[in-house]
Amino acid sequence: MPFEYRISALIAVAAVALWPIGATLADEAAGSHADRLEAARSLEAEGRTSAAADALLGLLDDPEGLDPAVRAAAYSDLARLRLVLGEYTAAMEAAAAAAAQAEEVGDRSAQSNAEFMVGMVHRHLNQLEEATSAFRASARLALDAGDTDQYLRAANEESNILVMVGDLDGALDRKLEAMRDAGESAGPGVLAWLENDLAFVYSRLDRHAEAFPHYERAWQLNLELGQRREAAIIACNLAGNLAALGDNRLAVTWAERGLAIAEADGLLPAQETAHLVLGEILAASGDAPGAVPHLLEAYELRERTLTEESARRIAELGSRHEAERREAEIALLRRDAEIRELELDRARNLRRLLVGGVATLVAFLAVLAAAYRIKAQANTEIRAANRAIEESRRRVEELSRTDPLTGLANRRALEERLADEALRSERSRRPFAVVLADIDHFKRVNDELGHAVGDEVLRTLASRLRAGVRSLDLAGRWGGEEFLLVLPDTGAEGAVELAEKLRRTIAGEAVEVDGRRVPVHLTFGIAEHREGPIEDTVRRADEALYRGKREGRDRVVVA
Ligand code: GH3
Ligand code: MG
Ligand code: MG
Repeated sequence: MPFEYRISALIAVAAVALWPIGATLADEAAGSHADRLEAARSLEAEGRTSAAADALLGLLDDPEGLDPAVRAAAYSDLARLRLVLGEYTAAMEAAAAAAAQAEEVGDRSAQSNAEFMVGMVHRHLNQLEEATSAFRASARLALDAGDTDQYLRAANEESNILVMVGDLDGALDRKLEAMRDAGESAGPGVLAWLENDLAFVYSRLDRHAEAFPHYERAWQLNLELGQRREAAIIACNLAGNLAALGDNRLAVTWAERGLAIAEADGLLPAQETAHLVLGEILAASGDAPGAVPHLLEAYELRERTLTEESARRIAELGSRHEAERREAEIALLRRDAEIRELELDRARNLRRLLVGGVATLVAFLAVLAAAYRIKAQANTEIRAANRAIEESRRRVEELSRTDPLTGLANRRALEERLADEALRSERSRRPFAVVLADIDHFKRVNDELGHAVGDEVLRTLASRLRAGVRSLDLAGRWGGEEFLLVLPDTGAEGAVELAEKLRRTIAGEAVEVDGRRVPVHLTFGIAEHREGPIEDTVRRADEALYRGKREGRDRVVVA
């Protein structure tokens, strides 16, 4: 938790703790004066600070003459009210008057209270040395008077000044010493904030484990005393403590506990602290989205609190009647407003920064999303490119094995297939057939009808051959007007059968090119492969083919 929150928590706790001081004195006062003192305190309790101050001034101006004890108490109360109103000079005058009155009466406890107020005013004015000596005097007087609680208050404030100047070890020693001196006689009200302050110093010294039990006791004491505002703040302190101890989960629980009390009782500053602590813990534990609403809420509350406070004080001022004092008050308020405006500015800037942070976060996420999209798109493109490359490779491969004119397997593909089949046949010990087919007198077609018609004839024959074989068979272009068929699991007999069928079909149906009928005949040479080099089988098929040519063409010859 930021230092200023802890300090404001200390001040809040201390301010509340001051209430009973006047009450002690009031019991000793008598008659209508005592009643008027009580009436002023009621106004103060209602939050009507200025009205309470006016009531006290009226009481102190009473020409009937006040009982010195009541006068001391009234001045002491007035000092506290002036302090709350930020009227430090008037507060100091009242505190000094209270001290003088108490001394006159010989009431060391009242004197101690008055010195304490002097110390508080000095501390508010940042006159730390003067404050320290006043608190010391107050502590001494309280010890003399046997007023343990007042002693602890003074000693604690004395040590808080050591905290303010950074002497944490000194502050800790002083607090521990005070607690030892107090022993069992300290009241729960005093202990409640002393435990909190002690825990606070331990945390500042990074002795978080030692801080924890003191915060816990402070929490319990404040709850028992019904001091819910303090309990809420201490719950937040506990949250910060647990976060420092590394237990973020439990820390969040405590901060939420503090928030629940603050919300139930409408305690805006405590709500602000709780939201801030929650936001900080969540942010520290990496939950930025969870933290942001709490931090925004904290700054919202800060702004609201300051605005409400200003409005309340302006309204209060408006109800006052003493023109002269109003002038002074206005001047003070202006100064105060300037400070508050600065604070408000800071809150606004923080919020702006935070909103900026959120915007940055959103932008960051957007960039991340864009990066992801780009990456995903790139991946898609890369995948598509890979597919295209693969497709091209496949196509190149296919083309390298395809005869461009007829679309049939080319010689290279045929040779590979022949080699494969030869291997398979060797393993399976089953024969396969190689068929070579050559167009009869094809030279004439070219010569008489032109090369283009010849090409068309080649294409038509190619498709007829392809259509005429089984899917397991392979028909390819072996050379110019020569085709080769690979017929797996086929013997010479089966090959003859197929070749005959093809020969007849082709011879029976002339190829039509541009309305011209071109009769085409083929001679087939067949060889059955059983063993040995495949080239020998192909050669045998070729020999059979040429035998067919020699024997008159348009026939099937087996090797
Ligand atoms: P045979 O019956 O003895 O086989 O006689 P043929 O005329 O078919 O044989 P020859 O080997 O004398 O002629 C083959 C012809 O095939 C020569 C060539 O012009 C033709 N030829 C080879 N490749 C192509 C081609 O891709 N397109 C065309 N249009 N003709 C081709
Ligand atoms: Mg030929
Ligand atoms: Mg030929």
